[in-house]
Amino acid sequence: MSRIAYVNGRYVPHAHAAVHIEDRGYQFADGVYEVTTIHGGRFIDADGHLDRLERSLAALRMAPPMSRRALKAVMRQMMRRNRIVNGLVYLQVTRGVARRDHPFPEVSTSSLVLTARHTPPFDAAAAGGVDVITLPDTRWKHCDIKSVALLANVLGKQEARDAGAYEAWLVDDAGYVTEGTSSNAWIVTGAGELLTRHADSAILNGITRQALLGLAADEGIEFAERAFTVAEAHAAREAFLTSSTSFVKPVARIDGHALGNGQRGPLTSRIAAYYAEHLDAPGSAA
Ligand code: PMP
Repeated sequence: MSRIAYVNGRYVPHAHAAVHIEDRGYQFADGVYEVTTIHGGRFIDADGHLDRLERSLAALRMAPPMSRRALKAVMRQMMRRNRIVNGLVYLQVTRGVARRDHPFPEVSTSSLVLTARHTPPFDAAAAGGVDVITLPDTRWKHCDIKSVALLANVLGKQEARDAGAYEAWLVDDAGYVTEGTSSNAWIVTGAGELLTRHADSAILNGITRQALLGLAADEGIEFAERAFTVAEAHAAREAFLTSSTSFVKPVARIDGHALGNGQRGPLTSRIAAYYAEHLDAPGSAA
């Protein structure tokens, strides 16, 4: 008997079950999941799992894909169609398929996928034990990896959009700006110093950032790679952000604090002009 999956309203052979490549689960980890045990043909603690699913969905500001009653009916169908007595049902809900862009899509239908598999039943009398090691808890702390686990970035970008802003600059526990949700952050201090955070595991070392540092060095513009505080950002004379999609984008206001005269500052203008030359330079293309 072939394994069956549930994908967006259809029961399909597991081997051919697929979601679109622009599903936000695949692109951004913009989704949640649950796994429920089937023991002796019964779902164990299903309401606990479905309560947690609702809580996780609410945290992502996503509506449940269907009523709890309907979800339970799909789970039962999956158990039945896969003839599972002891096993697991996995349930994944994502924000659905949309053109790749961090903010929530204006219209999207969440994707719902269920898979099931057989597992040996729990043996309370099993002999022996397993080995465990300890590790530092680095979860959500490896911003230097260009990972598709972008859920925090997505939620931050959406907060920026909700506040009428283009980008959110993220702040670490010590009050220092790390970077934007999809760009690197730069300021020119009141004293005229060009600053961007040093590249460690707290930021993605942007390729645009690196190109600009090279251009600044070539042009004799003084800069420092160090963390700056939110207060320094508010008091900055100029600021801009960089990325492959935003290039060099001047920042007019940070948390409502107007920088300079609210126009592109002189150093930002110089750097933007050097970057424009870099884009056209024969040596910068592969
Ligand atoms: N930081 C983050 C979190 C990003 O997603 C991006 C864009 N990919 C950047 C910085 C800028 O990197 P790059 O200049 O390589 O586009």
